[in-house]
Amino acid sequence: MELYIHIPFCVKKCLYCDFLSGVFDEKMQRRYVAALCTEIKYMAAKYVGETITTIYVGGGTPSWLHENLMDSIITTIKKNFHVSATAEISVECNPGTLSSEKLNVYRSIGINRLSIGLQSANDDELKELGRIHDYNRFLHTFDLVRKAGFDNVNVDIMTGLPHQTIEKLEHTLNAVTMLRPEHISAYSLIIEEGTPFYDKYKFDAVKQHAGMETEDLPTDEESYRLYKFTMDYLAQKGYKRYEISNYARGGKICKHNVGYWDRVPYIGLGLGAASLCGNYRATNLRDIYKYIEISESIENGQVPSSEFSSPYYETEDEVTRKDAMEEFMFLGLRKIDGVSRASFFNMFGVDIEAIYGPIIKALRNQGFMDAKEGRIFLTDVGIDVSNQVLAQFLFDD
Ligand code: SF4
Repeated sequence: MELYIHIPFCVKKCLYCDFLSGVFDEKMQRRYVAALCTEIKYMAAKYVGETITTIYVGGGTPSWLHENLMDSIITTIKKNFHVSATAEISVECNPGTLSSEKLNVYRSIGINRLSIGLQSANDDELKELGRIHDYNRFLHTFDLVRKAGFDNVNVDIMTGLPHQTIEKLEHTLNAVTMLRPEHISAYSLIIEEGTPFYDKYKFDAVKQHAGMETEDLPTDEESYRLYKFTMDYLAQKGYKRYEISNYARGGKICKHNVGYWDRVPYIGLGLGAASLCGNYRATNLRDIYKYIEISESIENGQVPSSEFSSPYYETEDEVTRKDAMEEFMFLGLRKIDGVSRASFFNMFGVDIEAIYGPIIKALRNQGFMDAKEGRIFLTDVGIDVSNQVLAQFLFDD
């Protein structure tokens, strides 16, 4: 079983971001972490006997928290859950929010993987995105991280930025690969409703999807070239792509994310966090004041009544067998080595061919899928049109 912990605080909101995060002062951060620790204890009591194999602290900007707050989160988890001695424990960080003191505390409490949000090595692009850092600040942070002894580090970059050219992307890829992080995630910018980027680029985004000429964003064709260039560049530098947007060298894949694509059950703790346990999925409350109120009631010995199995949940839905099969294919085929026939059988007690045989056959005939050594996976051509291909695995009703 995996754990996800959500920290909904950022120094400043980036212009493209629609994640559940905001700017709150330190007093609020302390109240939130106290509430989170109450939820950790409350939920741990429901999962006695389970072993936690990965912990992922995401956000938001978890590295913005004071090190004592991070210490109390991890310590509370370890005291209340059974955490495997070899668990991967990752924390998302942003340049400019780490110090050597903080990193030493991270190491001492068992954090063993960091994910740094760089996005671009070009300062004009960072400014356009509304990030708090410039490239030099990132370099300083990366240096601190290495000096503190972290040997499992991810760097996030973005493609499809406004006015991004192959030359600009090459500059970012070159700057990042020279540092030799163990892992690189390269996601495409998505223009999300409700963000300042949406107001600025919504018409361009529509044109992009329609395959028309754009003004600021790359055209559909240019986006594809940027994506392909990233893939080839990273392969040349020894980074193996193991998922549509994720690359690792030396086998240092993100175990937490692989678990997610393999539908390993996970418990999400903190504001808006999602869980997948047994045959249900749930999401936590998104209102920070309500979230804190629930924890304060529990601390006072009163568990608030709820229609759901946790007072922290805002939604809770049954996952039917069909839903689970769809997810198995949808998520599993994001991995470059695809899904295993044996895992499908173990999970559902039926052969994958009995459910998806005709679809797999048709996709193989079209060159979108292939099979080898008990696994079924998308070909390069299939990955290029993955949205359309994956949609075939949805049931009609
Ligand atoms: S740092 Fe990350 S979570 Fe925070 S606003 Fe920027 S993109 Fe969003």
